[in-house]
Amino acid sequence: MRAHPAGPRHAEVLPASHLGNPAKNLNDLDPTIWPANATRENGVLHLGGVDVRDLAAEHGTPAIVLDEGDFRGRARAYAEAFTGGDVFYAGKAFLSRGVARWVDEEGLHLDVCTGGELKVALSAGFPPEKIALHGNNKSTAELQKAVDHNVGRVVLDSYVEIVRLADIAQRAGKEVQVLVRVTVGVEAHTHEYIATAHEDQKFGFSLSGGEAAEAVARVLRQPGLKLVGLHSHIGSQIFDTSGFEVSAHRLVGLLRQIRDEHGLELPELDLGGGLGIAYVEGDTPLDIGAVAKELRRIVETECTSAGLPIPRIAVEPGRAIVGPAGVTVYEVGTVKPVDTGTGTRTYVSIDGGMSDNLRTALYDAEYTCVLASRASDAPPMLARVVGRHCESGDVVVKDVWLPSDVVPGDLLAVAATGAYCRSMASNYNHTPRPPVVAVADRTTKVLVRRETEDDLMRLDVG
Ligand SMILES: *Cc1c(COP(=O)(O)O)cnc(C)c1O
Repeated sequence: MRAHPAGPRHAEVLPASHLGNPAKNLNDLDPTIWPANATRENGVLHLGGVDVRDLAAEHGTPAIVLDEGDFRGRARAYAEAFTGGDVFYAGKAFLSRGVARWVDEEGLHLDVCTGGELKVALSAGFPPEKIALHGNNKSTAELQKAVDHNVGRVVLDSYVEIVRLADIAQRAGKEVQVLVRVTVGVEAHTHEYIATAHEDQKFGFSLSGGEAAEAVARVLRQPGLKLVGLHSHIGSQIFDTSGFEVSAHRLVGLLRQIRDEHGLELPELDLGGGLGIAYVEGDTPLDIGAVAKELRRIVETECTSAGLPIPRIAVEPGRAIVGPAGVTVYEVGTVKPVDTGTGTRTYVSIDGGMSDNLRTALYDAEYTCVLASRASDAPPMLARVVGRHCESGDVVVKDVWLPSDVVPGDLLAVAATGAYCRSMASNYNHTPRPPVVAVADRTTKVLVRRETEDDLMRLDVG
């Protein structure tokens, strides 16, 4: 075992959890966190068989690298687990034309929630009948576009939208298949859910307040709309199925009420997305096969006891499919040890930051990273990986053990950045956004090219 400096001096600056074990080999790649095709060869991180130094040389840094095999493997596992149901990939996690094609080829459907996401899907040739349009404030133009292109499902979110969409559908002489988004009073957080307390939010129709039943009644009065089911989405980074159980129980209660009041048995039940992934050591994602089995059991039990036919189940994973496939490669620019008063923390500055990964600053999200361009036997140091933006909150990895010989020019790789990083990227400080590069079988393919300063200047017309 190597010696390491994790004595009492460091203890007081350690976070309560999730820093991992400094005694472990810092060159290791935890297979629950890193993509399926991440390896170290001669000490150097390879993604999809491609040396990260070559990736950096060819595509620059920062670069978001997507392991195509990992993405497709997870998509396929979902499709197989939910055979007899429908899996909608939530495009907001990350969407490009290439990714839309992977989703289609693996047999998944697609969720979009803006005209922009719809545009990407349609321009990739994604079958419109397999697209669902979500959102709490879809514009009339977006609804019109969905109707024009015969999008498969529209998930209704407000009374005014029911009338708006019905009007558009009738003018077009079409019948649009819709679901009603139900706020079931379950908000899932990591490792827990809080029942009933969270009706106070912008999405959907409240179940307990009777709005969901009223929305159903109003939809049924509209000749341009065909109600096919109910929808609920209880949150994100979920690590147990108890929240889904409560949600399904309440949704089936509403299905029963709809049958009793309207004589209608709805064929579809969409339980939303939200399954968690491993960002750091100790995160324990659920097995998708087991989740599918459990959701089916819950819905079957509830429907059987209500005397209802078993509806077709839909789920909407985003993070759980694209999150683990992504790795962001950065170059180290400065290394600065800082005395915290109770110990030393080394600030490692990389050439990106909150403009390409907002989640740490926004949600206190946790990430891990490794020295990628070489292996190191140097003892561990407690590091904080920070960006280059003008905010002290511009942190990418809050606490991580890195080899103490990290120097400017080294490449760092941050794991599990496939979801909600590039899709939430900004141009803060007029920073061009990074490219997204797919890797598979030792080859690379640019999905989204790097933005340039010229791209940014093109918008400045004053
Ligand atoms: C965000 C969202 C999802 C996807 O959530 P993940 O946590 O990425 O799985 C699915 N459905 C709806 C309605 C959403 O808003």
